[in-house]
Amino acid sequence: SFSTSHLRRSVIIHAGHVQSLNESTNALVSFSTETHNLDFHGPLRNLTVAIKDNICTMHLPTTCSSGMLREFTSPFDATAVEFLKAGGANIVGKANCDEFGMGQLSTNARLRRSLNVNSIHGPVVNPYYSPNEKSVPWAERERRSAGGSSGGSAAAVAAGMCDAALGTDTGGSVRLPASYCGITGLKPSYGLISSRWGVVSFADSLDCVGVLGKSVDTVKTVFDSISSYDPKDPTAAAPRTRERAKASAESLLSTLDVNSSSPDLSSLRIGIPQEYFPSELNTTIVTAVRKVLERLSSLGAQLIPVSLPSTPYALSAYYVIATAEASSNLARYDGVQYGWYSFPSAPGADKSKPGNVYAHTRSAGFGAEVRKRILLGTYALTADAFDNYFLQAQRVRQRIKTDFDSNFRIPNAQLSDPSPNPDGVDILLHPSAIRTAPRLDSDAISGLGPYLQDVMTVPASLAGLPAVSVPAGLAADGWPVGVSIVGQWGSDELVLCIGNVIE
Ligand code: GLN
Repeated sequence: SFSTSHLRRSVIIHAGHVQSLNESTNALVSFSTETHNLDFHGPLRNLTVAIKDNICTMHLPTTCSSGMLREFTSPFDATAVEFLKAGGANIVGKANCDEFGMGQLSTNARLRRSLNVNSIHGPVVNPYYSPNEKSVPWAERERRSAGGSSGGSAAAVAAGMCDAALGTDTGGSVRLPASYCGITGLKPSYGLISSRWGVVSFADSLDCVGVLGKSVDTVKTVFDSISSYDPKDPTAAAPRTRERAKASAESLLSTLDVNSSSPDLSSLRIGIPQEYFPSELNTTIVTAVRKVLERLSSLGAQLIPVSLPSTPYALSAYYVIATAEASSNLARYDGVQYGWYSFPSAPGADKSKPGNVYAHTRSAGFGAEVRKRILLGTYALTADAFDNYFLQAQRVRQRIKTDFDSNFRIPNAQLSDPSPNPDGVDILLHPSAIRTAPRLDSDAISGLGPYLQDVMTVPASLAGLPAVSVPAGLAADGWPVGVSIVGQWGSDELVLCIGNVIE
């Protein structure tokens, strides 16, 4: 029909536009060449979506930005991708990311000089144009990171290459890039939303599919379309638990008037966790967050200082648990069953010793950050270190969950016998990151510096809570600041609603 050919033509024009924008950002690593989805009726019709390269797609490769999977194309679509297609979304391509989602800027001076991050596809350049550099040509302006590990997803949305993107968030990988690029990013409740079926595992007890978009509305539309229960994911929350959580969040939402032009938030209790304002926090970020709080308070919301005392231990616990799980998940890439068989071409390969296949494949196939984490995680799981590292980290994780539960008014629907907490808060609000996007060539990034970026985001990951980062103005350097809204498990809709008010 006329409309189909018209749409097809406009999709092809859009594809050309996307490719040219990609030259300056390196956000996408493969492109859909055909218009595979022309469903005019689904809720996602007219939406262009990019998919992080660690989420399986049949029509495009899934490399996880790793040499290990450089030749891999999945024989099936991830459930989240199936849902997108069923909703009528037009998938534009796969988004660059850090290798297997391990999202740090490189601390290695040699790699940093060549502006590399942990991706075989090279670094993603943040497309944001700071007003302080308005008259500076693109090629000469500051090259800043789009954040990790869903940096390609965030940059693709921010540059206008697509309306929304799927990312994954294990410890902040959706929220941090959203904050750095000035867009919205949702990490849903663990197990509630977005099946992990077809998502390449990094640390399964933390991994969530997340959604990035220019507006909260777009994020919500995509989120609604991909969030059904999927029996293929054994960690998906049972339908009864979902219903319980939905009912509490809805009863709270019904007391708020969020849809009118002047919302009434007088029944909303917002907790401001004191531990999320550490000394490393850039002061102009605090100014931007304060403005958001003043606005919410002018709409009637009550601001309540709260304490989450285990927060300082979250980062260490996260890196023990995430590396331990990664070491186990990544063991499958042996060059025989899974992964790129690199033995014959690996430097120093001694073919007379077949036992070396495993070592050579993994040395040549994985990048430096991944190898480091496999070693750390393997160590944490050894008999000598298990009690002091892995078990201790699990104890900290439990304390972090308890900290959150004792602060929220709504009970945690996952607990069989939650105690009521009428004085609790409905959401927590804090800065998404301790600073704005770092420069890609910055010398300040060294040692543990990159890991500190995750300080604000890992607690919600350890507790499996929903968190959305929304843009909250600019810092003094002219770069975007994000604020995060965290809710009780299952309150995804509530955090999105408040995000909408802030936006
Ligand atoms: N930066 C964190 C890490 O590298 C978060 C990664 C993620 O959320 N995928 O582990």
